[in-house]
This record gives sequence, C-alpha cells and structure tokens, in this order.
Amino acid sequence: MTLSSSSSPSPDGPRGLSILGSTGSIGTQTLEVVRLFPDRFDVRALTCGANVELLAEQVREFRPATVAVGTDAAAEELRDRLDGVADAVDVQVGEDGLCKTATRADLDVVMAAVVGFAGLRPVLAALKAGKTVALANKETMVVGGALVQDTLEAHDDARLLPVDSEHSAILQCLVGESAQSVEEVVLTASGGPFRTRAADTFREITVDEALDHPNWSMGPKITIDSATMMNKGLEVIEAKWLFDLEVDQVRVLVHPQSIVHSMVMFTDGAVKAQLGVPDMKVPIQYALSVPDRWAAPHERLDWGEVTRLDFERPDTDKFPCLRLAFEALDTGGTAPAVLNAANEAAVDRFLDEHISFLDIPRCIEQALAAHSHTVSPTLDEVAAADRAARRHVQELAAAPSN
Ligand code: NAD
Ligand code: MG
Repeated sequence: MTLSSSSSPSPDGPRGLSILGSTGSIGTQTLEVVRLFPDRFDVRALTCGANVELLAEQVREFRPATVAVGTDAAAEELRDRLDGVADAVDVQVGEDGLCKTATRADLDVVMAAVVGFAGLRPVLAALKAGKTVALANKETMVVGGALVQDTLEAHDDARLLPVDSEHSAILQCLVGESAQSVEEVVLTASGGPFRTRAADTFREITVDEALDHPNWSMGPKITIDSATMMNKGLEVIEAKWLFDLEVDQVRVLVHPQSIVHSMVMFTDGAVKAQLGVPDMKVPIQYALSVPDRWAAPHERLDWGEVTRLDFERPDTDKFPCLRLAFEALDTGGTAPAVLNAANEAAVDRFLDEHISFLDIPRCIEQALAAHSHTVSPTLDEVAAADRAARRHVQELAAAPSN
C-alpha cells in the first residue's frame, strides 16, 4: 500500500464521491465529514438497502446524480418520496445498481460502507474502473482478499484505503516506513460487552445485551461481531491482505479503553501506536484526506481523563470466533468465505432470536467442517462457497435441537 496522491480526474476541483451504504453508521458519518468539507466533495451517488426514508432526505440535501436501492419496491417508494426531485435522479436497483453507482465515469472516490458479502462485487468493479476505494466493508477482504489484491495489481490507477479504525491506525504508523521493516502488527480489540462476564452465563446472553457495545456505536451486524470477537477475527484477515502480512505477523491484544487503535512493531524493536478517542469520523476522514490531514473539530483526547491503558491477551476459549478466524486464514482458499458467510447467517438468526449467542460459533465451526476448501478460488467459486455456507447454517438453525 502506497501513500502517493491519487491520479484524480479532477485534482483541483471537488472529488466525485459515491457512498455505498449511505444510510448506515459509516455512511452517515461519511456524510458528516462531507458536511465539514463541502468544497472538497461532490456527492454523485448514494445507495442503501431498504432505508428509503433516510436516503430520500440525503438526496434532497446532497443532490446525487444516481442512487441505488435493494429492491424494486424500495425504488418505487423512493420515487414517491422524491416527488419533484425524482426526475433529476437516476434510480438503480440491486447488485447491478450498486456496481453502476461504484463505477460512474464522474467518480473519484467510492466509500464502501455496505455490510457483508454484498460489498465484494461493487468493490471489485470500482477498482477495475480505476477508482480510489475507501474500504469500511471488511467482509470484502475476508472473502475476496486475493481477488482484490490481483485486481489492484492489474489496475495501476486503482487504490484501496482502509476505514476500519485499526487498519487506519496501522496505515498511519507505516507512514515513512518500508514494508520490510515491519515485524508484526498488533490489532487492539475492546473485548466487547462480555469481556468480564463469566463464560458459564453466556448461554443466557440476550440480543439487547449483545447490541450494547461499551465504546462504539455501530450497525447491528458489526456490534454482534464485536460481542463474539468475530469482528477482530475478520480484521486479522483484513490486515493480512491490506498490508501483505503472514498470519504469524498479526497479533490481537484486548485493550478495553479503545484509545490505542492499533500498533506496529518494527524489526529494530521500536513500536509505533496511533491513539485517539473512539470516533469513526477520524479514520473515515483520513481515508479521504490521505496523505494529507485536514483540520477538523473532532473530539480531542483529554489526557486528564486517560488514567490508564490496559492490555490483555484475548481468551479464545471464551471467544472461539477469534480462533476460528485464525484457523480459516491459515487454511486459506474458500475457508475465510465460508467463515464469513456462516457468521453473517448465524448473526442474522441470532438477531431474530432463532439461535442463541453460543450457537453462533457452533454454526460457523460446523459450516467450516462441512466445506471442502477450494485453493485460489475465482469470484464464482467464492460466491458458491458463500451460498453453501449460508444454506448450511439455515439448516442448522432450523434443526429441532435448536
Ligand atoms: P450499517 O448496518 O449501519 O449500514 C449498512 C449500510 O449498507 C446501510 O446503508 C444499508 O442500507 C446498506 N446495505 C445493507 N445491506 C445491503 C445490501 N445487501 N445491498 C445494498 N446495501 C445494503 O453498517 P455499518 O456499521 O455502517 O457497517 C458498514 C461496514 O463497515 C461493515 O462492513 C462494518 O463491518 C464496517 N465497519 C463499521 C464500523 C462502524 O463503526 N460502524 C467500523 C469499522 C468497520
Ligand atoms: Mg475495527
């Protein structure tokens, strides 16, 4: 990953921006950053799955040329809500629509902030079209890291910049360093809401308890991933591909205060860390400003309040999802895609109260055991592995023992 400025088609004027998933936690915070720097961006595309009410408000404020929504029914509702503005906005639908809103000729930057496997094809399409992709959608790197790497190698003008706070921290620590000097990266993890809860009470964990994250306010899927620590597992795989690391170069440390966002240890023993209050607007903005920094009124760290910084090893007996992610990364091929799909399906079933918190790792482990892994998969093979793993979890969740 290099920090050179992008070959933007409009280097002096505002950069054309598309936000995939503009109604979500990362999407709305990206628009907050855009509001701080109205002269730097021209919002040309916005998309959502189903939150048409908020998307309509965003269209009225930012006047994009294109929007994409998940279904025909959502498109119909959006047109009704945009009465009077609708004629000026091109409304696209589904995955094809998402890809179109990621590849328009007038775009410089694509913020990939949809959740889950749905981000993979649009991200690949944007990179193939030579765009700069600001990547929040970590699942893309988990299921298709090798495909993304190949696409970046084949398209010199494409760039990929991390939005995830840990990976943004690593990128910031790497400024001025050479890749050969990196010994290991240390991803910090808050530990989630159940870090200190006794493991023998995990079977009683409710959806509301799991959705109550101590430090970050995020969408429901990543909040459950944080509670199971699968989020850190996905981030380990994301770090491997973003920074071209070996599995044993990525370490996880639990850091409950979420002030040190991650660290890099170099071959001479020196360690660099990036710190700040937990606020996603900072890494979102850095992905949009890199290699520069833009002065902004985000909350400052108050050293009077920071009385201690704690670090501890993660407990993979209590949080087996983290172990499963390391194992899937080690297996390689389609294993991380199976891990991700089984996790997405299991989290959905947990959120609608069909399975328990402890069933999430069980479903993933069983899906991984049932799958025969393809080495160096194509996009179609990754998608097939994703479908098979989801089916497997649906069957497990529907089985009488659950
Ligand atoms: P969210 O659920 O709040 O928002 C998701 C957005 O994607 C919404 O706009 C939704 O309408 C849209 N969407 C969902 N499914 C879709 C589909 N199938 N097709 C098209 N659009 C779809 O999620 P979020 O918390 O903003 O997270 C987005 C991504 O960023 C995830 O991959 C997450 O892991 C990552 N991330 C989030 C945070 C955070 O603080 N929220 C931090 C780091 C990384
Ligand atoms: Mg993160």
